[in-house]
Amino acid sequence: GRRALDRLRDLPAVTRDGVHIQLQANIELPGEVQSVLASGAEGIGLLRSEFLFMNRDDLPGEEEQFQVLRDLVCRMEGRPVTVRTLDVGGDKLARGLGISPGANPALGLRAVRLSLAQPDLLEAQLAACLRASAFGPLRILIPMVATVEEMRAVRAVMERVVKRLRRDHVPMADPLPPLGVMIEVPGAALAADALSWHADFFAIGTNDLTQYTLAIDRADETVAHLYNPLHPAVLRLIQFSAEAALRARIPVCVCGEVAGDPRFTALLLGLGIHDLSMSATNVAVVKQRIRTLDLGAASRRARAIMDQSDSSRIAQLLDSFNGGDV
Ligand code: PEP
Ligand code: MG
Repeated sequence: GRRALDRLRDLPAVTRDGVHIQLQANIELPGEVQSVLASGAEGIGLLRSEFLFMNRDDLPGEEEQFQVLRDLVCRMEGRPVTVRTLDVGGDKLARGLGISPGANPALGLRAVRLSLAQPDLLEAQLAACLRASAFGPLRILIPMVATVEEMRAVRAVMERVVKRLRRDHVPMADPLPPLGVMIEVPGAALAADALSWHADFFAIGTNDLTQYTLAIDRADETVAHLYNPLHPAVLRLIQFSAEAALRARIPVCVCGEVAGDPRFTALLLGLGIHDLSMSATNVAVVKQRIRTLDLGAASRRARAIMDQSDSSRIAQLLDSFNGGDV
């Protein structure tokens, strides 16, 4: 019941065999910080920064973005915050950007592509993040990356901004904040080994990864029954990306909806993922699931699942797994 979940807040997220799993929260508005702290989440694993740009005719400048991020970082009192750069474009339009949806919004000028097409925008966001990093642990995350070249270009912009801030004696974290890649385009997942050399961490976005791998619009109700993160192709991409990160010794987190669904917890842990970010409301149920799991058994079950070729058998194997059994 509710009480039992409340009590979980102060218990650690450890498996029965003693492995700590980091549970963080996804947020879309700074007002959610209160519920993040109340949930027992260890940090913010995904701050969707779109709110800064929506419902207005102009664009937020560096100073405004800095102040919002600084306040957020301070309110998190030393817990880590991962800020994702702008993920609008396509269907999510901000009026101030003055761009049109295009014929195929999901495949159009959006996210990192838009940031690189309008480098002033990216510079302001990176500068705001770098300045806020002086106030607490902050990481920067780039959405919808498909190529190594995009990460090179982002790093070049970041170096330019760092140079300017250093020249002006603006305080920043030392070392500088880690720069991470969202793995949410199938091509990025398949090139995860190459991308791992250009990223300080990975965040696997299973919502878009499922949408693009299966060619199912995640918001289209007429095909919603076909949207399935348990499709073997999606799972193989998650596995390949996680293994690339582990080989490169960079942190890897899953931050799509599956991270907050206790049904998937054993599988994600079994694939070597020890870092999950989800809506604050799901932290307690996922923690409860983790505390029933044996990681060795979960890894064996994940291996059995990865040998399967159909989603219904995969779902069966997952749902029949009771935590510690082999
Ligand atoms: C995702 O695509 O899985 C993700 C976490 O990002 P968003 O839901 O904001 O697209
Ligand atoms: Mg996404």
